[in-house]
Amino acid sequence: MSDDEEDAMTEPNDEFTLWDLRVEVLSGDRPMVCNHREGDFFELSGENLSLPEGQTFPIYPLAALLPLLPAKQRNTDPHDWMTTDTIIACPDPNCGGRFRITRTRRRVFRHGDVTLVPLGAGTDADAEGSP
Ligand SMILES: [Zn+2]
Repeated sequence: MSDDEEDAMTEPNDEFTLWDLRVEVLSGDRPMVCNHREGDFFELSGENLSLPEGQTFPIYPLAALLPLLPAKQRNTDPHDWMTTDTIIACPDPNCGGRFRITRTRRRVFRHGDVTLVPLGAGTDADAEGSP
């Protein structure tokens, strides 16, 4: 028996999937104030954000987008606004910039590759029988 076969028999399947995301700048009904241009984008895969070579992205709209991205990476209920709403406004009230978040592909990760916390260590209200 090879090491791989032995590992497959002893390790639990700890795979999970996340969506890769692409966040693209759209123009709105007013001129853009920040240093983002229509068509600029960044991508997120797991915890890694990447930009096309030579392109920048301003930190203020990035700060507004960051809290939404981990939720967008996960499957959400079809009735949840997090599923349906894909265009986010720039936080500068004078800027017409908009940002479209697109789920581009599902990527498989393994729990043991991304954390040292053992499987089953987390709790939630349903598991504890809370109302
Ligand atoms: Zn802006």
